[in-house]
Amino acid sequence: MAEETLFTKIIKGEIPSSKVYADDLVTAFKDIAPKAQHHILIVPNKPIPTVSDAEPCDEALLGHLFTVARKIAEELGVARSGYRLIVNVGPDGCQEVPHIHMHFLAGGNLGMGGFPVKK
Ligand code: 5GP
Repeated sequence: MAEETLFTKIIKGEIPSSKVYADDLVTAFKDIAPKAQHHILIVPNKPIPTVSDAEPCDEALLGHLFTVARKIAEELGVARSGYRLIVNVGPDGCQEVPHIHMHFLAGGNLGMGGFPVKK
């Protein structure tokens, strides 16, 4: 049995969140501390800790994150103007929550800067 994470609790509705999308494989909800006008976390319901823990059997699931990103972009009307997808991995990647998630950022030109570094 995989370990419970903060995001598992959000997916199950035990912790409140603003969900924007959910299906059998993936849940997407607004980031609590948005770093762009639109900042959404796209999370596999299966709690794989990091990309470094992903197995070949997770390929379709992880690919699905991109399809959901595309749907969200279309709904927000930014599919053509553009957006940014980020996956932080491990301590040096500044990954805070050990449950794979894709950051979806949009709203104007995001510039070339990366994510603010947390000390
Ligand atoms: P990471 O640094 O792991 O790539 O990103 C974790 C993200 O989760 C951060 O952007 C942070 O703001 C967000 N986050 C942390 N706790 C919560 C929470 O309780 N609810 C929501 N919606 N987002 C959270």
